[in-house]
Amino acid sequence: MSTTATEPSFRQSVDLMFNRAAALLDLPPGLEEKIRVCNATYTVRFGVRLRGEIRTFTGYRSVHSEHMEPVKGGIRYAPTVHQDEVEALAALMTYKCALVEAPFGGSKGGLCIDPRQYDRDEIEKITRRFAYELIKRDLINPAQNVPAPDMGTGENEMAVIADQYNRMNTTDINARACVTGKPIHAGGIQGRVEATGRGVQYALREFFRHPEDVKRANLAGSLDGKRVVVQGLGNVGYHAALFLSTEDGCKITHVIERDGAVENPDGLDIAALRDWIVRHGGVKDCPFGTFHADGRAVLEAECDILIPAALEGVINLGNAENIKAPLIVEAANGPITAGADEVLRHKGTVIIPDLYANAGGVTVSYFEWVKNLSHIRFGRMQRRQEEARHQLIVDELERISRDASINWTLSPGFKEKYLRGAGELELVRSGLDDTMRGAYQSMREIWWERDDVTDLRTAGFLVGIKRVARSYEEKGI
Ligand code: NAD
Repeated sequence: MSTTATEPSFRQSVDLMFNRAAALLDLPPGLEEKIRVCNATYTVRFGVRLRGEIRTFTGYRSVHSEHMEPVKGGIRYAPTVHQDEVEALAALMTYKCALVEAPFGGSKGGLCIDPRQYDRDEIEKITRRFAYELIKRDLINPAQNVPAPDMGTGENEMAVIADQYNRMNTTDINARACVTGKPIHAGGIQGRVEATGRGVQYALREFFRHPEDVKRANLAGSLDGKRVVVQGLGNVGYHAALFLSTEDGCKITHVIERDGAVENPDGLDIAALRDWIVRHGGVKDCPFGTFHADGRAVLEAECDILIPAALEGVINLGNAENIKAPLIVEAANGPITAGADEVLRHKGTVIIPDLYANAGGVTVSYFEWVKNLSHIRFGRMQRRQEEARHQLIVDELERISRDASINWTLSPGFKEKYLRGAGELELVRSGLDDTMRGAYQSMREIWWERDDVTDLRTAGFLVGIKRVARSYEEKGI
């Protein structure tokens, strides 16, 4: 979309990245092609009566790979949605799910619409109609195809999809598992809204646990004090920026939005800025820093970490050479084109790739799907039992110290923290953290061990493709 005219499309870009990795594997003849191609894309055009007229909308649902079912992938609402984009995003979902060991194939959906032009009731009507078209073709189904939020969609749309599926499948006991990212009251899970941003934070924390990896990016030390530029303060960008600034000591020095960028070298107050954007529709005139009308030029600002969290293709052959960040975390899908990727690799920029960096969303979606199928909230059975066992230990320690007249006391706050059993949110965070750590380690092993792999993206693709290939080989085609 924002790539230069001579660059390949988003889907071709993903395929080129796939090819780079697949060339390093010894796959059986024909399997590489089978994995790369998108299995099917369904295009739907439907009418909705709005504001006294019938408006026609175009939507897509692509299924990239069904080596595991259900297939999984978000639904995007944006005026720029088209088949090539949806197929690229579906392909990324295949490799992403494999990398983080979420047992799904890859899919993605999109509706060509500017959601800001419609009110909530209208969006509900349009979403219901779109969902109806997909459900009746099993393109939304708990066992076959499970969407989630993406750009321009959120909890509300997911609740409408779940409700529409339920109306059309009244005897399906697993109906709620037909879509993830739902509000809690509609079968959602704690921690899903912020999961992708939280995953970006966990990805960076894991990266900074390995000083030799940090050194490869010409950086040193911890996340504390690192200067960060974030593009897009939506669901993913906002949560990533909020957690990194309030929990890890990062300074978010620049935020780039649709209408420009805002800069504050001392670090922006992300919660206040987001509140401003929601109320005023952009960053212009906000009182928190200096405004720059040319937001895209701010991608080239001096910083330690650049987090593109809005759109694909924003770092392309037109600006790659000028990017100064030594470390880029792809919170968005496909923000760096294949051409720019090559330029950056040659410059020595370290890229934490999308298929890993934004996998927190699908990871927690996986937990939500499991919760819906098991019909019970995580932690409900064991929480109080865990607390009771911890209480036993604390009581016993206190008794021993009393009986032996030892003068020791537990640190302030220890008892409270230790005694509290894990609820759903704690378990979701623990599962997400474990997943992000494990997936990073599987990539870095290859990054360090193979001389022919010089970047984390190729390493991530290698892990993902190998797992998809194994799955095809095991099940037979
Ligand atoms: P969102 O709609 O919540 O937010 C997108 C943000 O980007 C908005 O604040 C918007 O104003 C801003 N934006 C749009 N155009 C811009 C431009 N030209 N310049 C600067 N900012 C611009 O979307 P999201 O859910 O946060 O998704 C963002 C990216 O993350 C997408 O690439 C999406 O595929 C990816 N992603 C999202 C999830 C998820 O769980 N939501 C999961 C994985 C990946």
